[in-house]
Amino acid sequence: MRSDSHTVSRRALLCVGLGVGTAGIVGVGLAALTGEDAAGGGRAAGSPAPGGPAPGARPGARKAARTGSAPHLARAAPDSYRLRPLAGETSMGEPAAHPPVHTRAESTLPAAAGRRVLALTFDDGPHPENTPRLLEVLRRHGVQATFFVVGENAAAFPGLLHAIAADGHVVGNHSWAHHPLNRMRPSDVRDDLGRTSELIDRVVGTPPRWCRAPYGAWHPPSLKVCADLGMEPMGWSVDTRDWTRPGTARIVSAVTDRATPGAIVLQHDGGGPRPQTVAAVDHYLPLLKADGYTCVRPQS
Ligand SMILES: [Zn+2]
Repeated sequence: MRSDSHTVSRRALLCVGLGVGTAGIVGVGLAALTGEDAAGGGRAAGSPAPGGPAPGARPGARKAARTGSAPHLARAAPDSYRLRPLAGETSMGEPAAHPPVHTRAESTLPAAAGRRVLALTFDDGPHPENTPRLLEVLRRHGVQATFFVVGENAAAFPGLLHAIAADGHVVGNHSWAHHPLNRMRPSDVRDDLGRTSELIDRVVGTPPRWCRAPYGAWHPPSLKVCADLGMEPMGWSVDTRDWTRPGTARIVSAVTDRATPGAIVLQHDGGGPRPQTVAAVDHYLPLLKADGYTCVRPQS
């Protein structure tokens, strides 16, 4: 669907040139369809109206997304392709500039070591209504989080992308058009993730260090591309299913009941109206604090 197939990250070329990321890939935790983003589901499926554009997306971009490599997903019911969180990984301890090829995404913070820390993550934005509201709540509570942005939304709202970073939050790569990477050719994955990283680098001034595949749908080639682009894959351990709009109380309890040291919490600021998510964050942050938890950026 994209014509700029030559949009390949300079970093990718550098990394490839250095032969980085050629470690063997063993038994990948495949993109078992469960978890994430069905918000993505919510988003890719275009909730609230399946197949319709996300509020934060450019109309043209959504049209392009719908005519992309997996148009059938745009028509699928969210639960039909829910993605199971991926747990564990085997490659650790490499220099940040050249992360190893992981065999699956981290589902918890590797540096937590039993400390009562957790990472809040918000996917599918930036969104012109949800993201500013969420930023205000996080700012008021003095909490920093990680935002896995979708490239086409970030391109539509670069000011919001900049605002996220200006508040000290981590900006992660969540692909350009929220297509499942494991159904794309490796060269297309490289173009997609590389294009998104370049945009983030251009707007924020720093390339993303973390990447989350839409739907958590990693596969060996996409994990290698992720490493080649200087990123590490991130999964989650707590799926709030906030994209289903279960009610603020359900989202709150999903977090407070399942918070564990090193937990990574999956939520969404894009893909549809998220007032429940924003309200839940405002509600549960004091509860987590009272329970001894500190919300951290990954690797802190
Ligand atoms: Zn997503």
